[in-house]
Amino acid sequence: MGAAISKTFLITGVSSGLGRAFASGALEAGHRVIGTVRRASDAEVFGALAPERAYPVMLDVTDFEAIPAAVAEAERQVGPVDVLVNNAGYGHEGVLEESSMDDLQRQFAANVFGPVAMIKAVLAGMRERRRGHIVNVTSMGGFITMPGIAFYCGSKFALEGISEALGKEVAGFGIRVTALAPGQFRTDWAGRSMERTPRQLADYDAVMDPIRAARQAKSGNQPGDPVKAAQALLALVEAANPPVRLFLGDDALGLVEQKLDGMRAEISAWEELSRSTSFA
Ligand code: NAP
Repeated sequence: MGAAISKTFLITGVSSGLGRAFASGALEAGHRVIGTVRRASDAEVFGALAPERAYPVMLDVTDFEAIPAAVAEAERQVGPVDVLVNNAGYGHEGVLEESSMDDLQRQFAANVFGPVAMIKAVLAGMRERRRGHIVNVTSMGGFITMPGIAFYCGSKFALEGISEALGKEVAGFGIRVTALAPGQFRTDWAGRSMERTPRQLADYDAVMDPIRAARQAKSGNQPGDPVKAAQALLALVEAANPPVRLFLGDDALGLVEQKLDGMRAEISAWEELSRSTSFA
């Protein structure tokens, strides 16, 4: 692979975890990074990573109305965005029956509607320039599911579907769209960032209590290294033909293979009934 031409990245949520690692990796590789944060102290830390090439933007991705002007101003200062990385997001943990419609709405606002608003803010420019790469950070939970995080999985499935369909709409304009689906990575995701709905219904103790305890115990010990995820992101954006979906981590690959095998077997087992519904 030859030396990469320097690009302008727009990465949401660069205060911690994967977003910070993505931003640091891109800056170390010589790229410019517009990074969104929600606190002035995080803006300062991010800006100090590379004073000439790290451009912090204060933005909550659920503030949909603020997004177009914030992105336009950043592009005016730094230049057109070549790579959008929709990374900001969080996990809601809670049994569905115990969780509120407000929990669901906030989960989709951050993990689906915000990323779409970010895409809409860069898409016209990418289309005019006939190039660009949109990387939507989904999750293995956007393909496999686990009990106790139904709203999170739903939000990541939604972003996967939007990502895949959008890719088909814009491929002819030279714009690539990739869903980047990590397994478990050592970040603040299952720690300070996670929203946990309090337990209420004893019927769910057997299914939910071990899951909650295991996730809390695992936080800080996850197998995935964000620095290596950042190297994977850089390889992805340099690829001539980037994939529609890229899983990160042995855990993600193992669980996805298992699901695909199970899906194939179930589709075969029910094939006759599935094929029984057409006219004639
Ligand atoms: P993290 O360390 O908690 O980082 C999340 C980042 O998103 C933080 O910068 C946070 O900002 C930002 N953020 C959250 N809600 C936001 C909002 N409404 N507006 C703007 N920024 C917001 O967790 P992470 O693991 O790096 O998460 C990054 C992405 O990876 C998420 O989309 C997550 O779902 C996904 N993911 C993570 C894992 C994993 O195991 N870690 C696995 C699969 C997918 P603040 O600092 O202001 O809160």
